[in-house]
Amino acid sequence: MTPTLDDARDLDARDRLASLRTRFLPAHDDGLVAYLDGNSLGRPPRATADRLADFVDQQWGTRLIRGWNEGWLELPERIGDRIGEVCLGAAPGQVAVGDSTTVCLYKVIRAAVSARPGRREIVTDRDNFPTDRYVVEGIAGELGLTVRWIDVDPDRGATPEQVSTVVGEDTAVVTLSHVAYRTGFVADMAAITRIAHEAGALVVWDLCHSVGCLPVELDGLDVDFAVGCTYKYLNAGPGAPAFLYVRREHQDLRQPLQGWLGRLDAFDMAQGYEPANGVRSFLSGTPPVLAMLGVAEGVELVAEAGIGRIREKAAALTAFAVALADDRLAPLGLGLASPRDPAERGGHVTLRRDDAVELTAKLTEAGVLVDYRAPDGIRLGLSPLTTSFEELWNAVDVIHATAS
Ligand SMILES: *Cc1c(COP(=O)(O)O)cnc(C)c1O
Repeated sequence: MTPTLDDARDLDARDRLASLRTRFLPAHDDGLVAYLDGNSLGRPPRATADRLADFVDQQWGTRLIRGWNEGWLELPERIGDRIGEVCLGAAPGQVAVGDSTTVCLYKVIRAAVSARPGRREIVTDRDNFPTDRYVVEGIAGELGLTVRWIDVDPDRGATPEQVSTVVGEDTAVVTLSHVAYRTGFVADMAAITRIAHEAGALVVWDLCHSVGCLPVELDGLDVDFAVGCTYKYLNAGPGAPAFLYVRREHQDLRQPLQGWLGRLDAFDMAQGYEPANGVRSFLSGTPPVLAMLGVAEGVELVAEAGIGRIREKAAALTAFAVALADDRLAPLGLGLASPRDPAERGGHVTLRRDDAVELTAKLTEAGVLVDYRAPDGIRLGLSPLTTSFEELWNAVDVIHATAS
């Protein structure tokens, strides 16, 4: 059955999150038809604009350096706890905000490897996000370890069966993305974590495309470490800092970037490094306070919406996208490169055609912002707090015209 514009409007009318769209700043851009990149850079919440202006004036401008002792220094853990509670199924004291995802990955994978001395291998998959692959390769080079690569189905991601075949007594760490950045495939975190643990290895999950889009249960699934970014579904703003999760029992492990703000009693400025207690020892330098305000506001919007409702809307959006693509775009040779089962999809859908680069450029011209993903993918990011069904319908209408 052909999905119509009326269907889209009907879905919007029944969308319990629809009113939250007004909590984001509109783009002053008449040419913008649809923004399908909220999974790469989320839109700005109005509350963040107000909070930043207020902070600059009242906190930075007025309290000046006193602000550090009036709460700024605690922000990495305070906001981390809130992310843990709202999005990650993590009890307090295990999540901290700071640094980029890349740096956080480096720190936690190094810490994880150090917990398994004598084991020589790190497992990841060839379709993992580039920074994850490069960090793993860098650590392997640095420590003389071997990377065990999993080759994944190009329309999916790593499966428990594939992980089973490569893990063993030489595996120190298994590190994977929970939601694949290209296909949107949701890995079976419970099964893969169990398989890694049965082999005596630790797991590091990358949650960049999960956090704020679908519920995660880090404590409940015995996950060892996780990282994730905040500028995607948490709408914290370009370059906003990432978070890392370190399960309580691993917090005595040492991370490699020992800096003054991860030290016990940092302001003693003492000789020699001694790690702080708890997850704080995974911090290194001065927290990016301005950028963290966007994280704080973004998490509160997710809390207000409810991560369960966000998950439901993400599933409805991707289902509508798949139905539209099957009906209108598949006949033009734009095939689905994401899982068909909604339970296996995160918040985005990828289509594939050889001329994806040119097509993406034409779509940008036509006011539909999507992501090109090499070699032949066009990724439609559907951000539950900000994307409407009508916007998606309009986007597909333009893609249809452009690709014809
Ligand atoms: C977006 C993304 C990153 C980004 O890393 P940065 O250090 O913030 O640039 C890392 N991993 C995955 C899976 C991503 O989707």
